[in-house]
Parts: sequence; structure tokens; C-alpha cells
Amino acid sequence: MTEELVNIKSDSPQTNEKIIEYITQLFRGFDIKEIPQKKGNLYVRNLIIKVKSVLGSSKTPILFAMHLDTVPGQWFSKAELDDTRLIGLGASDMKGGIASVCSAVLSHDFDRDVYLLFSADEETSGNGSKLIRRQLGLKKAITILPEPTSRKAYNAQNSCISYEVTTKGGMQHASIDPEFNEKNNAIFKMIGICNMLSKYKNKDNNLVNQNIGFISGGNTANIVPGECTMKFEQRFRPGTPLKNKLHYVKKELIANGAKNIKLRFIGKDFKNKSEDNNKFKRIVSDFFPLEFATYKAWSEASIFSDMGPCFIFGPGILEQAHRKKEYINIKDLISFEKIYVELINKL
Ligand SMILES: [Zn+2]
Repeated sequence: MTEELVNIKSDSPQTNEKIIEYITQLFRGFDIKEIPQKKGNLYVRNLIIKVKSVLGSSKTPILFAMHLDTVPGQWFSKAELDDTRLIGLGASDMKGGIASVCSAVLSHDFDRDVYLLFSADEETSGNGSKLIRRQLGLKKAITILPEPTSRKAYNAQNSCISYEVTTKGGMQHASIDPEFNEKNNAIFKMIGICNMLSKYKNKDNNLVNQNIGFISGGNTANIVPGECTMKFEQRFRPGTPLKNKLHYVKKELIANGAKNIKLRFIGKDFKNKSEDNNKFKRIVSDFFPLEFATYKAWSEASIFSDMGPCFIFGPGILEQAHRKKEYINIKDLISFEKIYVELINKL
């Protein structure tokens, strides 16, 4: 199945018609809800497939949140197989994971509802999952993202906030008035803001990562710059209350002369309860010793985390994602099919 999935080109954000067709064929006869999504001038399709419990149990449903798209680029090629590996774009991220989940679900009956969520645009905007979340109508669920995790599982995730800030000055020839230059230089004001941010990084222990990623402003050396724009992001440890941080940073930005502050992205964190983590670990330990870690980047997991625990856990190799000749180990595909069956049965 992984081979067939890899052979269907699904670079983000192109149309995902063909791979959606493949999945809907695979789950013919199941309860499938389709959620169209406009992306620029094309429509992509997201899917919710409900696999109903055969025994009508009241156990908490399990969601598998998956993305059908691969990174945009020139890396697509037909799948190749050698003795131990399957090679091709998306093999690890995350068509291999999708194949393990689908095989597990199609070949077993379970005593709980399982939802397979397929989003169209994880690698670009992530809006598909938000649309899916709104349509789900569930209060409680356990979510698994079969992203490539190299035999680890992520049971928490940093948050991520990204800002765009502008400072304003007064444009004038630099030779006229040195005092005016001091006060009205938009780039000097932005330097003040950058210094404030680096001081803030050193004093806030919850801020695990900060990056100033873009600066643009001014015209040339003999003109006082009238405007400067900068983009930066901050990632906080799981469990950090974001409201306070947003409030504080905004206040400091204004105090340092920021005129326009835009929040470009707010990605929430998640953090599971230890009893949920322990149960998950016990089940996987029958296959290999599992190590938990905090996911440093932002993932779609936190879109689902208000319903219950989330685990980022899949058969792929993290280092293989987003590269040429991406591969996955065939034996991992097989063992993860079994692991997913156990998790659905026992979580
Ligand atoms: Zn992925």
C-alpha cells in the first residue's frame, strides 16, 4: 500500500484528487465525509472516515490525524524497493504511516470507533485539520499522528507564536539635522526592539527558542529610514500560558516604539497527563522500549488536544522527511501495523 501511495504524486499545495480517490476506494462502504477546501484558485479535499465499533462500545474514540500531501519540490519519483527499504517522496512523511494505519484498520474489528482524518495541506497551511476539527463533533478522543518519529513518541509540544512588527521614522536627507536622525531613524528603533527581545530570551525560562527571521527597511545610506519591518517567532515550553506572554511581549514592543504589530501565527502547545503517557508506553513496550520526547516544532496535534491525549508516533524516520530519496524501513511498516492494532485495542 505504501508503494501505491508513494506512486500517486501529491505535492502540496497541488490538487489532491488522485490520492483522495485512492483512499475513498480503499474505504468503500464506510462512513466517509468529505470537506472541500478552497486554496487559492483550486479546491482540495479533506476526508473524515468513521470506522464504527463492531461491538458498540463506549470507549473513547481514537483519531488518526494524517496528511496526504508531500512537500512541494522536485523530489517526486516512482517508488523503488530494495531488500529492506521502500524509497520515494513521502515514504517516511507520512505515506508509510498512513499505510500502516489503514492496513491495521481494514484487517481488524475493534470495540471502539476509529476516525481516520485525512488533511490536504499540512505541509503548507494546515487549514485542512482546522476544518476537520470543526466537523468532528466529538468531545473526547485520543489522537495519534503517524508522522515519522524514528521509534520515539512525542507526548508534548512547544507552542509557536510569530509576529510581524513595523517601526516608523521620518524620511529626510541624513545631512540636515543629526538630532532628527537620532530620534526618527526607523532602523535604530528596530535595533532597540531586537535588543529588548534578546534580553527577554535570557530572562524567560519558558521561552525555549526565539528567532528573528526577517528585517527590511530604509533606502540608502544618506536617507533617514522612514520604515522598518521585522518578523520574529517565539516557541514556549509546553504548559506555558500564552495569554500572559502575548500580553507582555506586545507591551514591550509598544514601549520600544513598535507602530504596527501583527500576529502572523499562534500555534498552541500540548502536554499529556502522565497516566495517559504510561498506558501508551506500556502497550508499545511489547514491541520495543519507547522513549518520549517533546516535539520542538509545531504540529497539528494541538488542534485536537483539547479532546484528550495526543501522540505523534509513526513508522517513518524523522531525518528522512523532506528530502530526495526519502525512504522507510519495510520491517517498521509491518511492526507499526501491529502496534496500531494493539493501541486501538488497549488504549
Ligand atoms: Zn508530515
